[in-house]
Amino acid sequence: MAVKGKVVVIAGASSGIGAATAKKLAAHGAKLFVGARREEKLKALVSDIQAAGGEAAYHLVDVTQKDSVQQFVDAAEAHYGQIDVMYNNAGIMPNSPLKDLKVADWEAAFQINVMGVLYGIAAALPIMKKQGFGHFIATDSNAGHVINPNAAIYSGTKFALRAIMDALRQEEGPNMIRSTMVSPGNVNTGLWKSVGDPELQKKARQREESIGLSPDDLANAVLYAIDQPENVGIDEILLRPTVQQN
Ligand code: NDP
Repeated sequence: MAVKGKVVVIAGASSGIGAATAKKLAAHGAKLFVGARREEKLKALVSDIQAAGGEAAYHLVDVTQKDSVQQFVDAAEAHYGQIDVMYNNAGIMPNSPLKDLKVADWEAAFQINVMGVLYGIAAALPIMKKQGFGHFIATDSNAGHVINPNAAIYSGTKFALRAIMDALRQEEGPNMIRSTMVSPGNVNTGLWKSVGDPELQKKARQREESIGLSPDDLANAVLYAIDQPENVGIDEILLRPTVQQN
């Protein structure tokens, strides 16, 4: 498989989609470098991967801090000597109606979901251009395609991310640097905890737990995108629970 031996860096790997993807890719022979803020979760993830015979290391990263992302990516390159895949997965979903004016939540969502990804690109793109190969992956969302009340900010971040990732694909594809978005509908990860509004949080939890895909379903999508021959770019995989309408 093309994924075997690839160095995959994941920002936002301590739980949910990122953790499941790290395990799946390691099981298929990739070398993982995982980061997030919760060290205990990262330690447990790395030891699970190693116990299963895989290769992994971790480094703390806060994607709201440009220098922290740079240090994370530099540490990955120093550890493995190259970076094949930079997967910018960190995200939050602090849904609320605009009238509630939760401006700090708006700022946090753009800082993590958009600037965090841009910092990842800023840190890894020069390395990939020097290498002459690489692959950026980002977790977008069906909310990057459809707009719903109470999700103005979350959708705004994911629409923005789609614009950035598609421009990156057009600019760097000719240089053999691939760009992929994985865009899920509901996934049962606990992302609902980042919804501040209690009523909306309850609804988000109910949706995730009743119909959500498993994080492993997303890991399969990421594996598919990485595992294609280098001349095949998977621009986006949009996947929802079959019963989810939008
Ligand atoms: P989780 O809450 O399980 O994962 C979020 C990850 O982001 C965690 O590893 C968390 O790590 C990390 N993260 C958050 N803030 C920061 C930060 N400042 N610095 C570094 N890492 C950070 O939820 P999911 O797995 O569901 O979320 C992953 C992605 O999937 C997100 O981008 C989300 O928008 C997207 N998504 C999820 C859907 C769902 O229904 N679950 C649907 C559509 C898209 P830590 O807290 O340890 O720093």
